[in-house]
Amino acid sequence: MSKISRKNFFRGLALGTVSLPLVIRSCGGQNIAQDNSSPAIHSGKKYRWKMVTTWPPNFPVLGEGCTLFAKWVKEMSGGRMDIRVYGGGELVPPLEAFDAVRSGAAEAGSGAAYYWAGKDPATQFFASVPFGMNAQQLNAWILRGGGMELWTELYAKYGLVPMLGGNTGVQMGGWFNKEINSLEDLKGLKMRMPGLGGKVLEKAGGTPVLLPGGDLYTGLERGVIDATEWIGPYHDYKMGFHQIAKYYYTPGWHETGTALEFFFNKEKFDMLPPDIKAIMESAALRLNGWMLAEFETQNAIYLKKLLEEEKVEVRSYPDEVLAQLRIHTDEIIEEITQEHPFCKKVYASYDQFRKAATDWAALTEKVYYNSIQI
Ligand code: CA
Repeated sequence: MSKISRKNFFRGLALGTVSLPLVIRSCGGQNIAQDNSSPAIHSGKKYRWKMVTTWPPNFPVLGEGCTLFAKWVKEMSGGRMDIRVYGGGELVPPLEAFDAVRSGAAEAGSGAAYYWAGKDPATQFFASVPFGMNAQQLNAWILRGGGMELWTELYAKYGLVPMLGGNTGVQMGGWFNKEINSLEDLKGLKMRMPGLGGKVLEKAGGTPVLLPGGDLYTGLERGVIDATEWIGPYHDYKMGFHQIAKYYYTPGWHETGTALEFFFNKEKFDMLPPDIKAIMESAALRLNGWMLAEFETQNAIYLKKLLEEEKVEVRSYPDEVLAQLRIHTDEIIEEITQEHPFCKKVYASYDQFRKAATDWAALTEKVYYNSIQI
């Protein structure tokens, strides 16, 4: 700032007579405004990426979220990053999204990490654990409590970069045609329940059945399954389960706040200019907030429809049934963590965070919810 006094500099800025490029040049001797040493930022290079998803095309909230993400990234990058979103089956089958992005056939993917448990059981801790953390706590663990570092380490083994991309909130417990009054009622029950929840149901004597979303209505109607879980009032209403099942159970002990994810081909992501990487991280974080708000909004609207228009009967799992399912959950997690060292490492972090978060919630949210119990 050799030719202009400090006082005049600030006055000049206020009056608009001192332009910022001049200031930058005179401050550090480096012409940032005309600096071409980061060509990636200024080259205007355009990227055309494909995102494969595990969701049916235009699937409410989850598929819509991918479209929003792509829209925001395009807007923020001035059109330099253009991501085309494909519904499950449009480019590759839904559950091949992970491998498609790994191989570079697509650059980006969207799903829930527990879909990849068959490839690596540690993935599921980044989506949902029965009786696990809720959305707020899982967000905190992943974003601020060390979860993201572990998730990044895990996905790097598969040539991927993960990002958090939303959360369903606590799900519902599912649709039944008979009441669940004791553990005996779970014995032999054929229920659609994926992931760790399915393993827990199996320990309790039930038969978890894996059926894709599109087959659930007819499966339940024809008795291929006795019961099914799905998501919550909004999606469940659209599936029409209230037309063929008598009782709607709460809570979704098996999915207490399922995180959704984006994953990117690491080699391609690493080659992006820093500003586009930052734009994608910002868009994912924005979507993370949007999705929970959308679930909260729509579920409240559709719960009212189910209760008042469809006269659905809501039931709660009895305490002793939930207590036993919790014991089985601990057994399943013990088995997995004994067998897989990385699962042990991830779960140690998850569990430590959960215990602290639970102590905090017990003093605040739990007391608060009890105070407004109707
Ligand atoms: Ca579910």
